[in-house]
Amino acid sequence: MDDPTEINSVYWDDDSKSWKYKIVQVEEYHGFIDCQYCHKPISHNIKSGGEFKVVYVKCGCSRLN
Ligand SMILES: [Zn+2]
Repeated sequence: MDDPTEINSVYWDDDSKSWKYKIVQVEEYHGFIDCQYCHKPISHNIKSGGEFKVVYVKCGCSRLN
């Protein structure tokens, strides 16, 4: 699998009480954690904006809407 250059991350927005998406540019890709239920990626370890961070994505069984 090629490393992604951008990730459509999901995060909880406390103001609107809903899940929001944000495209995050990937400078370096350092792998992902897979969901223990559906075994699809649920978070990615990346470097973005000069910082190492973990971004969350929707996995296959996610009930986020
Ligand atoms: Zn899952």
